[in-house]
Amino acid sequence: MSKPRRLRALGFVALAIISAPVQAWGPQGHQAVGAIADQLIAGTPAGKNARKILGSSLQTASAWADCARAVELRNGQWLYTQTGVYADCRVFENPASEHALVDFVQRNASRCGGFSSSLQCRHKAYHFVDLPLQHPKYDPALPGTAPNDLVHAINACIVVLKGGASPAPFDIRGQREALRLLAHYVGDVHQPLHVGAIYLDEAGHPLDPATPQEAHDHGNAGGNQVQLEGKKLHALWDDVPDKIFKPLMTGPGATQARQVAATSGELSTWSAEWAGESTAQAAQVYAPLKLGKRTVTLGGAEWPATTAEPAYRLARAEMQQQQLVRGGARLAQILKALWP
Ligand SMILES: [Zn+2]
Repeated sequence: MSKPRRLRALGFVALAIISAPVQAWGPQGHQAVGAIADQLIAGTPAGKNARKILGSSLQTASAWADCARAVELRNGQWLYTQTGVYADCRVFENPASEHALVDFVQRNASRCGGFSSSLQCRHKAYHFVDLPLQHPKYDPALPGTAPNDLVHAINACIVVLKGGASPAPFDIRGQREALRLLAHYVGDVHQPLHVGAIYLDEAGHPLDPATPQEAHDHGNAGGNQVQLEGKKLHALWDDVPDKIFKPLMTGPGATQARQVAATSGELSTWSAEWAGESTAQAAQVYAPLKLGKRTVTLGGAEWPATTAEPAYRLARAEMQQQQLVRGGARLAQILKALWP
């Protein structure tokens, strides 16, 4: 699937891409993270609890937060609008599951419609944070962070899974909803372009934004407005080639994930830690690119990029593989910390 996976810009940029639901990683990336974690917690108390709460595998549950993006307000009614479109959402395409999706979106959207932004449609903002590349350490004071960003979203899921009340601005109800979301967001925090952001001036030179306004003025929606060989950079990094995906879904992925180091410190600090690491990875995503002058078309602002191939494609595959393995390992780490 090659389509914009993320949107949040205001105005005509949003209009141009509003019709396509947006996903993080491809569905394959999230499935791989879920499948690896499923294997790592099989037969443990974490595995038993997760299965009981979800009534499904983590692999299946990992798509749920993206399927929620297909819920829209139409003529005053909230509806699931993409029946039959996404294979990984099909399991949720029945009246009870669609009701659960609509219910979550209603509680977590102040206004989703023709014009969406991170503030107006909150749940879509839960999937990312835009840490400037110059700051590979999460700090909620940095431009590009928000109270409803991905780092906070992961922590909100953990609070609910521990039996606590959903911290604002999140409205997450019940352990099933929290675990479905967590299984997805832990994948997102390992996609470098969902976390580390390059901010660019008109000439295509990077800058370090000093204020949220400056970040807003110089952002590019996680590489969605950077074009490499006619494709959105973000989509290139979301798409996981089969040759990476298939081994990750079976033994080799879990074997590698067992080698991933335990995350130290309090559970509540882990998502920030991983976000810092992904920002450092995002710097490597952008380092080999030569960025050109911004152009403004009907589709919005765009920066062209060029790079040396096949070196970039090979480096991308390697980083995707590493990050998906880390994602699976760390989803399992959270669940084992919750249910030792
Ligand atoms: Zn996502």
